[in-house]
Amino acid sequence: MKLRKIGVQLLTYFLVLGGFTAITYWGSQAVSVVAQMIPLEREHTIVIDAGHGGEDGGATSCTGKLESAFNLEIALKLDDLLHLLGYDTRMIRTTDRSVYTEGDTISAKKVSDLKNRVKTVNETENAVLVSIHQNTFSDSRYSGAQVFYGPEGESKALAEQLQSAFCQTLNPGSSRKSKKADSVYLMQHIDCTGVLVECGFLSNQEEEAMLRSREYQQKLCCVIAATVAGFLGNANT
Ligand SMILES: [Zn+2]
Repeated sequence: MKLRKIGVQLLTYFLVLGGFTAITYWGSQAVSVVAQMIPLEREHTIVIDAGHGGEDGGATSCTGKLESAFNLEIALKLDDLLHLLGYDTRMIRTTDRSVYTEGDTISAKKVSDLKNRVKTVNETENAVLVSIHQNTFSDSRYSGAQVFYGPEGESKALAEQLQSAFCQTLNPGSSRKSKKADSVYLMQHIDCTGVLVECGFLSNQEEEAMLRSREYQQKLCCVIAATVAGFLGNANT
């Protein structure tokens, strides 16, 4: 790894980790000014997709909380952090709602919802998509974040870096590998670099409790924001 790359990553991690504290004292504008001094290239707009929403709650956790709520809480924190790093962002949703614009049946609304998400990503110039979801499984033993990637751009490389960052920080001992998002409509139809992050398993009691906590959500966002920023600062996407 080149020295400059290490320097940029250290600066990024420092800024991200200090960001939540700093914003309390300095206000978001001052922090953004500091963020602009970090030598990262920011020609990209990060589209943040909080998966599901509204009548589509996604999975249900072992304590009865809907996946759509976890996704939104994490997506909003990620939005804050990426702003701290000086990035423009675009949120697919900022409230508990589906983003369909037509359809009378549940399945027609779902199709419209997914098409609108794709449209938002594809009409955003120099977009990089980060889609936030949660996992579940019938066997409650399984835990840990897993990153999926779309077919375009630098998706695979970004997913590998992000997966490895999770394994080195929040999921020590995890041997999970990033995977191609073969059956995810959104990921298959975007025309830019994109990753889908399954932040953890809502079927695992211990992990679900962590995923509900503000602290753990912030840590997740630190890993995602720092890795995406470090990656974009060094890659030609
Ligand atoms: Zn989901």
